[in-house]
Amino acid sequence: MKGFIFDLDGTIYLGDHIIDGAPEVIKALKGRGDKVVFLTNKSIANRKEYVEKLNRLGIEVELSEVINSNYITAHYLKTVMGEGDSAYVIGEEPLFEELADANIKLADVPASASHVVLGWDRQFTYDKLNNAFQAWRNGAEILATNPDRTCPVKDGEIPDCGAMIGALEGATGEPVKMITGKPSSLMAEYVLDNVLGMKADECFMVGDRLETDVKMANDAGIHSVLVLSGITTEEMLEGSEHIPELVLDSVKDLITL
Ligand SMILES: [Mg+2]
Repeated sequence: MKGFIFDLDGTIYLGDHIIDGAPEVIKALKGRGDKVVFLTNKSIANRKEYVEKLNRLGIEVELSEVINSNYITAHYLKTVMGEGDSAYVIGEEPLFEELADANIKLADVPASASHVVLGWDRQFTYDKLNNAFQAWRNGAEILATNPDRTCPVKDGEIPDCGAMIGALEGATGEPVKMITGKPSSLMAEYVLDNVLGMKADECFMVGDRLETDVKMANDAGIHSVLVLSGITTEEMLEGSEHIPELVLDSVKDLITL
């Protein structure tokens, strides 16, 4: 039995289009007894929406098989926040929902927060930035859901959580060290221990991004598989410091291994 951790966008689907052969591969892996989990850094949708999308695209999946950066953020805060601690959150509704599900206390007064959470927020403002900055001045720990600079959309890309990180770093003058999504070891460990229940070297991470999917796998000792169906070209691969163990044209080729 092996564990397979799949990235979603660029690996399983591109926008609203399933990648050719993906449903068959997932079905075949599950059919032979392998375990499958889907990981995404995107913080502006909730896990249920991913389940619905995958089902609609022909991949049968349960809620427990989809993990996103919001979920890991909630899990992390639950383990580190003490009595009287509270979080100031920049992000969209799905992030707030995930934190509410985990009973994370939100700060009544932003500047008094013990933790600041940065997520992708398409209503990001100077006031929100200032709130986060004032909390930081008062000693709050800063964490972010994901480091992605941009998110690919039809006809291009738009700023992602990396832009919110950049704004706060510009004010504080220091890097945001704690990232909960890929490539963090937090996410890798959670998936190995709590979802798959397997050792790193029994698992494969299949994804299209070198600096998140491949880096997380390599750092954690998970076999890394890069697919060229998404963001990464062969040219980008040649110059990269993150070298995958295997390179496939698409997830479809996984079955031939
Ligand atoms: Mg991807």
